[in-house]
Amino acid sequence: MFKEARVKLTVWYLVIIMAISIFFSLIIYHGAVSELNRIQRAQILRRLDSAPFIIDVEVLEETKRRIVLSLLALNAAILGISGVAGYFLAGKTLDPIRKNMEEQKEFVGNASHELRTPLTSLKTEIEVALRDKKLNLSETKKLLASNLEDVNKMQKLSNYLLELNRYEGGKEVPMTKVDLKKVVMRATGKRNVRTNLKKSVVTGNEDALTELVTILLDNAFKYGKGKSVEVKTKSGTIEVEDHGGGISEHDLPHIFDRFYRSDKSRGTDGYGLGLSIAKSIADIHGAKIEVKSKEGKGSIFKVTFS
Ligand code: ADP
Repeated sequence: MFKEARVKLTVWYLVIIMAISIFFSLIIYHGAVSELNRIQRAQILRRLDSAPFIIDVEVLEETKRRIVLSLLALNAAILGISGVAGYFLAGKTLDPIRKNMEEQKEFVGNASHELRTPLTSLKTEIEVALRDKKLNLSETKKLLASNLEDVNKMQKLSNYLLELNRYEGGKEVPMTKVDLKKVVMRATGKRNVRTNLKKSVVTGNEDALTELVTILLDNAFKYGKGKSVEVKTKSGTIEVEDHGGGISEHDLPHIFDRFYRSDKSRGTDGYGLGLSIAKSIADIHGAKIEVKSKEGKGSIFKVTFS
């Protein structure tokens, strides 16, 4: 599909370049011919028939032919060069679109895969239960509890997907003056977190920033092995620190990628989408999100507003 689009785009480039080139060639041709005609007329008028440099009709026709040939050769050269250059540039123009489409395809594939697991388990459990003629009340309740777990998983995934859609691709969200201290207090809620909060006002969306801090706190608790979690705010920065298992050097460059999960965290609930949402939120605020982590020691996630 992209090869076809690339060829089409090249043809359009060529049509435009050749239209311009032919237009100027015609102007040059007409200019040159009328100049030759003018010289001939001037010589006739001055009766310079015996002059050594008089242009006779044959020479004039020959000169016109040579001008036409030169212009044709020039246009052929322009066509060849712009064909190669156009094909190259069309490739460059379409490259970001191709990459984006591939990413979208991979994303849809990953999302469908994640939905299939709870859906299959839900379907199997319901089918087995429907076939069981002796199903009693307690078994039914157990089944419904398991079904609810699967539904919750799917709901969590759909919430993540909605949030990604809301914040991804630099979408505009309403911005006001927001105190990071208040944001952290909202995100912390009743959780047992050590805080060191200084008032720091930035321009941002309070709900989105609360979501960002909530994601970082959820991870700090999930991967923090029950050890203390600390949040700090000061002059345009938020830091969330945990003392859990940390992140390996192998995982570190990928943790902000969509659906990326380290091998260690595959057993836990999660879809590998939290940090990519956090990054999208930081991006729409023009903020930077960084992580320092040591395996076995813990991690510090820092968001810096410019
Ligand atoms: P998940 O839903 O898997 O937590 P995230 O996008 O939030 O998805 O995180 C991606 C991966 O980054 C996690 O699977 C985990 O391996 C790693 N990670 C994130 N935060 C921490 C943390 N505080 N400590 C250790 N590992 C972390």
